[in-house]
Amino acid sequence: MNSEPVPFALGDVVRLKKPHPCGGYDWTVVRLGADIGLTCTTCGRRVLLPRRDLERRLKAFLVRGDAQPEGASCEASAATWPVVDAAES
Ligand SMILES: [Zn+2]
Repeated sequence: MNSEPVPFALGDVVRLKKPHPCGGYDWTVVRLGADIGLTCTTCGRRVLLPRRDLERRLKAFLVRGDAQPEGASCEASAATWPVVDAAES
């Protein structure tokens, strides 16, 4: 089964199987959605690629951007959220 979605995150740097015309293989993820926005790290060109296309062309992750480190729980950050009084209005 290879239908598992790849969890792209903003700031990820990915290496694709085919090079950009400029010769670069590495791209930074700058936009998420049905189409993934990528900036070529070599020439700076920005493109939109359908997520499925990107998954097919993806060779490797070089850097994980927003990836949560294993063991980091949401509870820690939840505790630092400013507490807003619900009866504000
Ligand atoms: Zn390029």
